[in-house]
Amino acid sequence: MFQRILIANRGEIAVRVFRACREMDIEPVVVYSEADREALHVQLAEHAYCIGPAPSAKSYLDMDAILTVAKAAQCDAVHPGYGFLSENAAFADACARAGIAFIGPTGDVIRMMGNKSAARDLMKRSGVPVVPGSDGAVPDARTGAQIAERIGYPVLIKAAAGGGGRGMRRVFDPDQFEGLFEEARAEARACFNDDEMYLEKLVLNPHHIEFQIMADAYGNVVQLGERDCSIQRRGQKMIEETPARVLSPELRAKMGEAAVAAARAAGYRGAGTIEFVLSPTGEFYFIEMNTRIQVEHPITEIVTATDLVREQIRVAAGLKLSFSQEDIQPRGHAIECRINAEDPAHGFLPSPGRVGFLHLPGGCGVRVDTGLYSGCELPPFYDSLVAKLIVWAPTRLEAIRRMRRALEETVVEGPVTNTDLLHQIMYHPKFVRGSYDTSFIDQNMDTLLAWTNAATGAASAEAGAPRDREQDREE
Ligand code: ADP
Ligand code: ADP
Ligand code: MG
Repeated sequence: MFQRILIANRGEIAVRVFRACREMDIEPVVVYSEADREALHVQLAEHAYCIGPAPSAKSYLDMDAILTVAKAAQCDAVHPGYGFLSENAAFADACARAGIAFIGPTGDVIRMMGNKSAARDLMKRSGVPVVPGSDGAVPDARTGAQIAERIGYPVLIKAAAGGGGRGMRRVFDPDQFEGLFEEARAEARACFNDDEMYLEKLVLNPHHIEFQIMADAYGNVVQLGERDCSIQRRGQKMIEETPARVLSPELRAKMGEAAVAAARAAGYRGAGTIEFVLSPTGEFYFIEMNTRIQVEHPITEIVTATDLVREQIRVAAGLKLSFSQEDIQPRGHAIECRINAEDPAHGFLPSPGRVGFLHLPGGCGVRVDTGLYSGCELPPFYDSLVAKLIVWAPTRLEAIRRMRRALEETVVEGPVTNTDLLHQIMYHPKFVRGSYDTSFIDQNMDTLLAWTNAATGAASAEAGAPRDREQDREE
């Protein structure tokens, strides 16, 4: 087993990986930017190294700086978390060259899956269903418009290197295709320094259903069930739950098998996620594979009684998976809410700054993953995700009730957060019934914001908060 792991990340995921290391008797070594001197992961760690100034490009994305620390601190492995260098093939290669284990798949696998258009082609060849789309890259807007005609509108323009919902445009009107294509391409160039584009048919009102995969170096591939991540804003997830209410046992089994086939086709090792869109009529299609630990992994851990970060570390150290497919028998229901330091009432503007009083929930069935503490500083340079509230209960309705009370207990003074909005979603009849899809936020944001304002006294109470207990029934 490894003796020292360098954690190449910050925020809640750095703390999450730190905890796994401590429990495995591995020494965690952390890194931080100048803006993160006071961060929780730095305070917890005995070994902490500053790797540069605040902007990620000069710190958390600086491969040389990170590898220099890894060598100097005699680390035998690097855990990249999510975001930053986690899906950077060159970094995985550089670790391998330096004789340091990269906790994740090989650089070649990351490279292959990192090009979403190429990943699609591989899945299609391997018999995993994909959405009808362009076979391969689309060279220019005019060719794209022709391919879109063939696929049939509406279509989705996507960046091959895309992530975090960026570089994507939905097109309903053929006349707007070329303009939106150029817009998406410019965004892709700016965000990913890569403007390869491809097309998919836009599936209307789908669910985002993803499967957690774990694979070892001995050919064992296990799927740990699904997560419904359809509560999204601009392609970014806000709330995730498992099990997904829309899946029949048969469909769940079929999608699980497709996810295992996809991981096998990729020659995968470690923790990964196969993402699908599921149409209202029950057809499912592969959209991408995320070759890293996912933000929403805790809901899977809770229902399957596993520790996915521990498992990642074991697999990277050359051990076999500690469970088989038969061992995975999910129990109960889990929900995660992402608490972001952003202001829903003002276009979700990021809200960094110093946190004053802080109170996080606890009690039966509640887990909080966060880098927050009373008095901490939230720098403006990074992702706005600051805490994840995860609840478990025997049934879905009990989990929803537990999440409501956990959100009610949450107090973050200082920066504005989306906590009240999340709380209102927990009362929305569509959410309570489980009859929502990826269009939920777009279609209900005005109502939700009115409810939030009414509940927090920010506006007239006319809109009326939806605390109608009559609606508290699952259908
Ligand atoms: P998840 O499915 O794990 O929620 P997200 O797409 O929301 O995945 O990304 C998780 C984190 O990684 C977020 O902090 C997001 O900003 C970041 N991220 C995702 N894709 C990229 C990318 N291509 N480049 C940089 N950061 C990314
Ligand atoms: P990213 O790499 O940014 O996570 P994805 O390919 O996973 O991009 O797409 C982000 C979200 O966009 C998905 O979770 C889903 O809600 C929606 N989406 C992606 N592809 C399609 C599609 N073909 N039809 C409908 N919705 C889609
Ligand atoms: Mg995705």
